[in-house]
Amino acid sequence: MTNDLRIRQSHLRILEEQCPAFAYAVNVQGVPSISGPGAYRGLAVHDFFAGYVKHLHRTKRQTDFEALDSILAKTLQKYPALTLEQHEDIRSQAKNLVRGFVFNPDTFYGVETPLELQVDIGAGRTVTITGRLDFLEVGPQGNVAWVGDVKSNHVIWPDSQVCKDFQLRVYAALVFANMPGIERVYGRLLMSRYGIGLPQKGEASWDREDTWQLLEHLASRLAAHFEGRLKNERVPGTWCGYCPLRRPGKCSLYKSYYGTTPAPPLNDQQARKLARQVIALEQARDERIALLKDYVNEHGPVRVGSGEYAEVFGYHTRESEDIPAAAIIEILQNHADLVGAPPLDELLSVNKRSKAFKQLRRVPELADDLSDAVQITYSTTFTHKRVGGAE
Ligand code: SF4
Repeated sequence: MTNDLRIRQSHLRILEEQCPAFAYAVNVQGVPSISGPGAYRGLAVHDFFAGYVKHLHRTKRQTDFEALDSILAKTLQKYPALTLEQHEDIRSQAKNLVRGFVFNPDTFYGVETPLELQVDIGAGRTVTITGRLDFLEVGPQGNVAWVGDVKSNHVIWPDSQVCKDFQLRVYAALVFANMPGIERVYGRLLMSRYGIGLPQKGEASWDREDTWQLLEHLASRLAAHFEGRLKNERVPGTWCGYCPLRRPGKCSLYKSYYGTTPAPPLNDQQARKLARQVIALEQARDERIALLKDYVNEHGPVRVGSGEYAEVFGYHTRESEDIPAAAIIEILQNHADLVGAPPLDELLSVNKRSKAFKQLRRVPELADDLSDAVQITYSTTFTHKRVGGAE
């Protein structure tokens, strides 16, 4: 085994979150991975963001919407394989980034900042992890850093997932390893498709103790990786589309799925086929549920299977236990010494589509104030719906 062991952050992510055999092929054996249109588009979005931040730094401005066209034109020149549709998508994401980003020259540290850290994997060997941070800021006291990672994904993750993001945690470790004065690193995902930052509420942050735990975990995993102990551990998933082993004789697992699950779609045509199957299965399900319901209406519940695994189709009673808001407030006030000030913010937020909001709107004098107070938060739900229609 060579002493010059290196792994870049993207390959480390494949090892940790996707498929160890794929990681071995691209990182240890040096087999080139397969790029796809999504990855190419992501590179272009990152390139635009880096160009825009450098422009703000150079011109000492906090924002500059007028610079969008010229910076985007340079990006598009560097990525000539983009289709017209991708081009329009990147323009929309670039607009979102420019709208949502305010540059602070006092805390700016770098954009696309290359950092490295060494992990001791035992027997006198070390592995160098390399990463490039999309955006890095350091507080005026030099003890706090903020890492921003641009994501062009379609999904908006729940806020609680951001602090578990493996990539952000590795970036935080890179910062701690290179900046001895930093005590805490805050992470933020810049969702270029939606023009928002995650987490939308609360914060995702790590201290040196968190990083120590991560490095301890990586030490054993990287030792096994470089010794080839994980090279036959194959975990199929959508990432198979980028894996060079996805060929006859190299890896058959990605297609087999134990004979029950379809293989991940690798192009639009295969994805559409899967989507059509979902619609057909749902329609078949709805038709059967309606027929069963008619039967149960007349004859009573139907039991399938036996013992503890039996499923009963019928009308099941549902019970909900609610605590009135007034009672919660009273309890919190009575125990203020235990819980501090009541978190009314969370308790009393009212969804604009809820019954409570409609009732409040009945008082005409409140309507304007209520409309002004609306705060929009974004989330995504994976589903399918008619264009302009219901789900
Ligand atoms: S094709 Fe899929 S399962 Fe097979 S090695 Fe590659 S990523 Fe892993």
